[in-house]
Amino acid sequence: MNSHLQQPVTEIKGIGEETGLQLNEMHIFTISDLLLYFPYRFEDYSLRDLAEVKHEEKITIEGKVHSEPLLTYYNRKRSRLTFRVLVGRYLITATCFNRPYYKNKITLNDTVTITGKWDQHRQTITVSEIVFGPMIKDNRIEPVYSIKGKITIKGMKRFIALALEQFGDQIEDNLPEQLLATYRLLPKQDAIKIMHHPTNHQDLKQARRRFVYEEFLLFQLKMQALRKFEREQSAGAAMEFQMDKLEEFMNRLPFPLTNAQNRVVTEIMNDIRSPYRMNRLLQGDVGSGKTVVAAISLYAAILSGYQGALMVPTEILAEQHAQSLVELFSDYGLNIQLLTSSVKGKRRREILEQLEAGDIHILVGTHALIQDEVNFHKLGLVITDEQHRFGVEQRRILREKGESPDVLFMTATPIPRTLAITVFGEMDVSVIDEMPAGRKKIETYWVKHEMLERILAFIEKELAKGRQAYVICPLIEESDKLDVQNAIDVHTMLSFHFQNKAKVGLMHGRLSADEKEDVMRQFSENEVQILVSTTVVEVGVNVPNATMMVIYDAERFGLSQLHQLRGRVGRGSEQSYCILLADPKSEVGKERMLIMTETNDGFVLSEKDLELRGPGDFFGRKQSGVPEFKVADMVHDYRTLEVARNDAAKLINSKAFWEDSSYKHLRDDLLQSGILDGEKLD
Ligand code: ADP
Ligand code: MG
Repeated sequence: MNSHLQQPVTEIKGIGEETGLQLNEMHIFTISDLLLYFPYRFEDYSLRDLAEVKHEEKITIEGKVHSEPLLTYYNRKRSRLTFRVLVGRYLITATCFNRPYYKNKITLNDTVTITGKWDQHRQTITVSEIVFGPMIKDNRIEPVYSIKGKITIKGMKRFIALALEQFGDQIEDNLPEQLLATYRLLPKQDAIKIMHHPTNHQDLKQARRRFVYEEFLLFQLKMQALRKFEREQSAGAAMEFQMDKLEEFMNRLPFPLTNAQNRVVTEIMNDIRSPYRMNRLLQGDVGSGKTVVAAISLYAAILSGYQGALMVPTEILAEQHAQSLVELFSDYGLNIQLLTSSVKGKRRREILEQLEAGDIHILVGTHALIQDEVNFHKLGLVITDEQHRFGVEQRRILREKGESPDVLFMTATPIPRTLAITVFGEMDVSVIDEMPAGRKKIETYWVKHEMLERILAFIEKELAKGRQAYVICPLIEESDKLDVQNAIDVHTMLSFHFQNKAKVGLMHGRLSADEKEDVMRQFSENEVQILVSTTVVEVGVNVPNATMMVIYDAERFGLSQLHQLRGRVGRGSEQSYCILLADPKSEVGKERMLIMTETNDGFVLSEKDLELRGPGDFFGRKQSGVPEFKVADMVHDYRTLEVARNDAAKLINSKAFWEDSSYKHLRDDLLQSGILDGEKLD
């Protein structure tokens, strides 16, 4: 925006020091800040055709009083006044609570304007505001601003009106003509005015549309710039390896790769060979076969004379992965080691020494791998599994480890596309969207807690066939705050119920690493048949003989998490089952349970999860990296987001964007974000 608009708000005539300070409290410092302080919602006083109004919507109607008002008292204070109103061709009822004094004002055939909630079934409006006469407001859509301290909504409207009056014509557009024309977007000046003083919904929609595009475009320009500069500045190793050796490894796998796996491998190999550093996100549903893709990638790095690292969030997973890799590479003479926080003393020192000497080919571990004391000889590739468990900060440390190794982030939580291109907008994305052939759908049922007896009988039937079961609980111990089942109680109950028939194990986060390992080993060797556990088993754990999972209080989990949990079964050739024990109170809760029973597709579930829970909650409450937009809504406006992303990618790589004067404002905005000084977005 024009530099005049970067002056303090007190430059506006009518806004003094005192008000200026109060506006500062609301993070409004410049004239531009004030102009861009948009209402968070609108009161709609415009007249509408009743046929278009939804049940329980708030509306304003104008009509003629069609019956004498009827006043009923419930007690001394509470009363109800009803009368009929003719609105156009509709005859409706108006109800007014606790305002008996209106009775004398309501006269047959007089015109009244009423604002209130519309009950479509009863054809009744509950009066919240009444004007005795025709509609008087000329501005029928009233902005509502969020306010703080001594500032009132009325005050806010006045300050903004002053700003528009004195500086409105100095608002310059940051979007170039071409883009405005291509998408028929309103010029910034008009759009700002409409956002503060809309006269109809059509205009408001257009103004909003402009800002949604602008916000997304700016955001994606940052992401694309970051991507471009990261690639170009941090030149990775251009690895050279003998493709025939890699192909031999791929051909000797116990199964042919799926088309999706092949495609993803090609994408990764191109990155590994290129002089740019790889910064890629690999998404693939539970069981889609990411481990083997990781193994192939690691092997390519090793064939080029580099070391590889595989990082996972839990020790159990680290052990399992190390074991899978040892098996896959059993004929290839590779040195694969495990490093977790429970590897201590002499053993640890040995591993660290070997690593630094370059004797270890692949190091598998938890975040212990990114500690300072861990030094590689020649680290070429880092892979993290289930990366969303790693914070943004860890992601960054990881990228900076070694001499800019290629980095591959793997996740089994399918991330809705909108989030993938915002939260991970600076990365390249590969997707395995195909399951290995012959997988059976996990049959999923949603039952109420009363059905426990029947579930126990069902578990018993599976046990009789030689299978095993997981029972998942949200908590470890009894908690007086939350009325939920806990793992310890459930373990006691099941141990009693299945005494002499099956051994029941208990697993939760408070066990020591040794204890956990012990329980896990017992379960995978079928010494324990039923494993009661908290969500520690969520990711990656692989016991193909387990065909049954019961999840207590399933409504407490998000869809993506339930899907992750469910992915622990259905790993062998037998039919598997998942039982959700839940009594959700809300409609949304019920819908979530139903959808779990309907689909096994993680991508469908993730989209649904995002829709039901919103972007902020998708990754859990912690710092999620989900950006906040003023006007735009990632879920609602996702099509625009895609368009903006494509435009941004084209712009960043075009000469015109960097040189042409029509892009000056956009360039300035981008520069202001600090991205070009090497400052990281996270
Ligand atoms: P995830 O993507 O959840 O990490 P895994 O890599 O653990 O999945 O693979 C799940 C199972 O599928 C493993 O037992 C693996 O050996 C097997 N698998 C992987 N790819 C294929 C394939 N192309 N055909 C058949 N089985 C496969
Ligand atoms: Mg996995």
